[in-house]
Parts: sequence; structure tokens; C-alpha cells
Amino acid sequence: MSLHGTYDSDNIFAKIIRGDMPAVKVFEDDQVLAFMDVFPQSRGHMLVISKTSKARNLLDAEAKTLGRLIGATQKAVAAVTAALKPDGVMVSQFNGAPAGQTVFHLHFHVIPRYEGEPLGRHGEAMADVEDLKVLAEKIAAAL
Ligand code: AMP
Repeated sequence: MSLHGTYDSDNIFAKIIRGDMPAVKVFEDDQVLAFMDVFPQSRGHMLVISKTSKARNLLDAEAKTLGRLIGATQKAVAAVTAALKPDGVMVSQFNGAPAGQTVFHLHFHVIPRYEGEPLGRHGEAMADVEDLKVLAEKIAAAL
């Protein structure tokens, strides 16, 4: 997948937004959604997306969408910091397959980091959904 192209309305995140696929949600409003990554690279790994934009990546995004998204990302970072007490939090965002992007709906990763714990590999081990629900509740309680 190149950096350029048309938005696929059947991508996984579009399905989650429509309610056609389940997700472990942490918070949402009419514009943004934060949910748990099912292949977490660390405990508390979340994704933040726009519910209205058809941006595939950063290049496509409207300024207003970006403003909302980065605001929601900051909110996710604050909540996960308060809830899970990580030693650091990494925020990442990939554009195009060679950069590591696998889902072509703009998203920010919020990845808590814990001293002495290496980062898990991208998309390697699937989490137990029940464990993710417990984490999501804990993070949501710290909002
Ligand atoms: P990227 O590689 O930046 O496009 O990231 C896509 C992310 O979406 C990966 O970290 C995947 O683990 C995650 N992911 C894929 N499908 C789902 C899903 N159904 N629910 C939650 N996270 C997902």
C-alpha cells in the first residue's frame, strides 16, 4: 500500500466505527474513539482514531481532524499514565506500508513503556479480550 490512494470503507477501523466489528473501547465522543490494540506492544497499548474522517494517513488529514485527534491522544496518554503508572509513554503513527502501517485509517498508537521491559513486536501476540476489558475500564476510570 502506497502513501497515496483512496480510502477503503471496509478497513477494520471503519468496521469498528460502524459497529460491524467489536472493539474494547476506552472513550469516545461523536468525533474520536480510543480503544485497546488487540496486538498490544505493551500493557495498555491503545489506538486513537477519528470517527468522521476518511484520512488514510497524516497526509490526507484535515487540520480540524488532526486537532481533535491529537487532543484525544493527549487525553489517552494522561489517562493511561494515571491508571497504569508507566515510566514513559510512546506515541507513534505510521504512513504507508513501508513505514509499518497495516490499517489504512489514520490512527495514533499510545504505548505505555515500563522501565526494563522491551517493546513487544508490532502485531505479534494477540491479547485476551477479557484482559483488555479490565485494562480499558481501569484507564477509563482515570479519565
Ligand atoms: P498500524 O500498523 O500502525 O497500521 O497499526 C494497526 C494496529 O491495529 C496494529 O497495532 C494492530 O495490532 C491493530 N489492530 C488490528 N486490528 C485490530 C482490531 N480489530 N482491534 C484493535 N486493534 C487492531
